[in-house]
Amino acid sequence: MKLKKLEITGFKSFMGKTRIVFPPGTTGVVGPNGCGKSNVVDALRWVMGEQNVRKLRGKTSEDIIFAGSAGNPPMNMAEVSLTIDNEDGTIVGPFNDYSEITVTRRIFRSGESNYLINRQPARLKDIQTLFLGSGTGKNAFAVIQQGNIGALTDATPEERRVFIEEAADVTKYKARKRDTESKIKSTRENLDRVGDILSELE
Ligand code: ATP
Repeated sequence: MKLKKLEITGFKSFMGKTRIVFPPGTTGVVGPNGCGKSNVVDALRWVMGEQNVRKLRGKTSEDIIFAGSAGNPPMNMAEVSLTIDNEDGTIVGPFNDYSEITVTRRIFRSGESNYLINRQPARLKDIQTLFLGSGTGKNAFAVIQQGNIGALTDATPEERRVFIEEAADVTKYKARKRDTESKIKSTRENLDRVGDILSELE
């Protein structure tokens, strides 16, 4: 999966619409301390479904909305769109046929938030499924932030296994196995109930 472009509006230090295009090859983001380089990575993780605002270096979800600067009032909404190249069909599931997929996440100061995939309303689960096993999800090894290397070396064997499983594309099967097991459990419970009703009728 290749990232094509990231569009950021009202997210952290990005007030006006900012478009970052990732051409083939390596892209470097350079700039003085505090200019917003890590905010680009935060935007990437956020649009991929990150739920823990602390992992985006904030305390509350409002911290990720542009808080204003000299002469510029705070904004009421943050929006990030990530466009992915799917020419190679890496994305499995309902969007496999699309050669390009754009995932959008929005949050309003009121607390309301929403997700879109190719401009159609989507659920968080759809976003997570889209990235699951692609190596680029919010927990994936592909996004290595400051402190991540330390986190990997200090991780317990179980935590390290999670990194390896995501890299080896195993995570999505584990998630599907969990879903299936829970369906089997509820079907068993339903069958037990049917059994009880039948024995009452006999
Ligand atoms: P360094 O090189 O020191 O790691 P950096 O270039 O990665 O810095 P970031 O940490 O991405 O910089 O950005 C920090 C800047 O973002 C600070 O100036 C901070 O005030 C600004 N910032 C963070 N959240 C918001 C917000 N909600 N509204 C406005 N500005 C914000």
